[in-house]
Amino acid sequence: TKTTQPTGPIETTTCDYETVESVNKELFSNLSELVNMPFFKYFQVDLYRECPFWNEYGSCTNPGCSITTVDESDVPEKWRSSTLSKVELSSIDKRHELPGCYYRDSDFCFLDDNTEGDYFDLSTVPERFTGYSGPDAHRIWRSIYEENCFGLSEMNLMGGKSPAPVSLPDSISEAFREKDDGIDHSEHCLEKRVYYKVISGLHASISTHICLDYLNQTTGQWAPNLECFISRVASHPERLQYMYFNTVLLLRAVSRLGPYLSAYDYCSTGTHEDDQETLSRISKVVNIAQNVGKFDETVLFRGEDANILKEEFKTHFRNVTRIMDCVGCGKCRLWGKVQTTGLATAMKILFELDEKALDPYSNANLLQRSEVVALINTLHRFAESLEAVEKFRAMWSAMSSSD
Ligand code: FAD
Repeated sequence: TKTTQPTGPIETTTCDYETVESVNKELFSNLSELVNMPFFKYFQVDLYRECPFWNEYGSCTNPGCSITTVDESDVPEKWRSSTLSKVELSSIDKRHELPGCYYRDSDFCFLDDNTEGDYFDLSTVPERFTGYSGPDAHRIWRSIYEENCFGLSEMNLMGGKSPAPVSLPDSISEAFREKDDGIDHSEHCLEKRVYYKVISGLHASISTHICLDYLNQTTGQWAPNLECFISRVASHPERLQYMYFNTVLLLRAVSRLGPYLSAYDYCSTGTHEDDQETLSRISKVVNIAQNVGKFDETVLFRGEDANILKEEFKTHFRNVTRIMDCVGCGKCRLWGKVQTTGLATAMKILFELDEKALDPYSNANLLQRSEVVALINTLHRFAESLEAVEKFRAMWSAMSSSD
């Protein structure tokens, strides 16, 4: 249990594990209500872009991987493409246009143009075991970890407009050797460690969801799989710790975004009751975030090469968001896109935007709807993972006491 019960301060934050655990129930319960609200459950994304990094990529034919879109007529009118294309044209004009997708200079991800792509109802797509695995899934993870290579090199400073080729070592163990858990990260710069934690924490959270809602392929039963959780997450204490780290990072972003989220127009997304409920839940989440989101972003990107390093960091994370187009399983790709967009939005808020930029009155078009939806859904994913950890601890205790 020691490894599954981290204690004390969470590195690079001024928050501790116990504090996160003490609020997680309330956080999870408010977020669970929010992500079922019309505003937060519909996510528009182009899931069928070509993989920009390699030609041959497998697709998961397992029925668990498939996904269905939502008919646009079921989506509240305000968010339909025809309406959005009228309303948002002016702000879209200001952005860098890229073939099919774009980013603004401050973005940490490639976003889909809001007028493209299908709608998905996230509340009907559980993140769980799909059967997607093997060399194709490993190649994705390996490429993502390989983006954690900072060289302050000129090639990486091209702004990510043409994706840097991903060179793949022959064996997966080679790719993970240096970066896997248990290594001494102290010689790496703080920014690189933060990058690694964000990725490894995301990977651990996805694994936790797989193990929580696991299909026993022999019996056909869905149930939590403790062995899966121990081997993928708990036996590597760092992985577990990084899930807390990501939660604090996301909470800090929500805390800084508090005034913007409170002033955001969630109206016309459902009934009047829905709108009131959305606002009330948001204010509860922001309140928790203000008490617990103790991540100090000001200690990052401070040195001599701070700006160059930040550009590199951004380029690498943007590439991670593009690697999602290579995930050969629809459901996994959808949640991968939501969560990399959510984390990219959090990092943009923390590393790019000052108080003036975050002012909802002077900068009402600060974020796209998809960024707000992704941020809240990603925080919900992590809160759900921490809930799952509690469940696995209880299963472990019950098992240990019956021995
Ligand atoms: P993997 O999870 O594939 O890990 C590969 C290697 O990475 C491990 O051998 C280990 O060395 C290292 N590693 C593992 N975890 C960490 C960590 N936290 N930090 C650092 N290193 C680590 N499958 C589903 O069933 N449902 C999903 O919803 C789903 N979503 C996915 C989303 C994305 C974006 C991707 C890339 C994959 C997704 N998958 C999903 C596949 C899933 O993540 C695994 O790849 C698959 O279950 C095979 O697992 P594995 O045990 O072989 O190890």
